[in-house]
Amino acid sequence: MYSGGFYPYPSPEEYWAYWSRYIFINRYTDAPKPVYNDLLALVQGKDYFVITTNVDHCFQKAGFDKKRLFYTQGDYGLFQCSGPCRQETFDNEDTIRRMRERQKDMRIPSDLLPVCPHCGKPLTMNLRADDQFVEDEGWHRAAERYENFLRTRESQRILFLELGVGYNTPGIIKYPFWRMTAQNQAATYACVNYGDASCPEEIAEQSICIKGDIGEVVSTLLDDADCSPGNLPDA
Ligand SMILES: [Zn+2]
Repeated sequence: MYSGGFYPYPSPEEYWAYWSRYIFINRYTDAPKPVYNDLLALVQGKDYFVITTNVDHCFQKAGFDKKRLFYTQGDYGLFQCSGPCRQETFDNEDTIRRMRERQKDMRIPSDLLPVCPHCGKPLTMNLRADDQFVEDEGWHRAAERYENFLRTRESQRILFLELGVGYNTPGIIKYPFWRMTAQNQAATYACVNYGDASCPEEIAEQSICIKGDIGEVVSTLLDDADCSPGNLPDA
């Protein structure tokens, strides 16, 4: 699905026929596995914060506290002006559902093509693909909360839990986690990855690297920990 997003569709009607189905499945349909719910159970009652490059809204859908969440790269559920004429995003659920329902022969009707209510330019997804990415008010508030969370817990006992981060955008989560672990003797870096689960030599003593399936690892952790209220593990 991800690769299909890069296809040069010959018309915007075909482009949106593809993307509306893509967004509907990945943003407005429930995740097929309980990984996010298990993860939430694991951090419930703890002082946590989530930073993610995912744009599928799965953290919010699973019930993570929005104030403890920074989705850096956008959201499939938002449109922005392609100009962009201003730093504003628009909820797209109704439009996406209509595009999906009314499409025929791999095209949406032209009257459903989304346009900016301010300048009339086409709307596009609010995804960080280039420097046209709109960082709206919600984005800035989340960025500030994340920075604040890190700053006020500097040098405290902290676990940097990295799940499924690859080398597409390592500068957002992976490298900062490595650096912050190196700067704090009380920190632990834990990485779960299907492919490459490794860390630099400098923080090897503080690190746990697991090559495996995130769903299995998280559910095993949950089984091992008695997470009933009043009996939370302290790590
Ligand atoms: Zn505009």
